[in-house]
Amino acid sequence: MRQLLPPLTVLSSYPPSGGLQLHSLTEISSYTCDFCLEYAESAMVATAADALVCPGCYARARVPGRGGRS
Ligand SMILES: [Zn+2]
Repeated sequence: MRQLLPPLTVLSSYPPSGGLQLHSLTEISSYTCDFCLEYAESAMVATAADALVCPGCYARARVPGRGGRS
């Protein structure tokens, strides 16, 4: 079973935006982003339904129709 959230300690959470919610953590933490599938090391993490999202993907996801180059 995949663990929904690794042991990240949330310091504070921001209001949900576009189905994503951004959290700031008490310390730099490592996790795997479910959007870009890359290893992230950050004191910020966003969550979507059952996914962990790195700040970069969070920023991209919040701007629909823009910066969609891939
Ligand atoms: Zn990502």
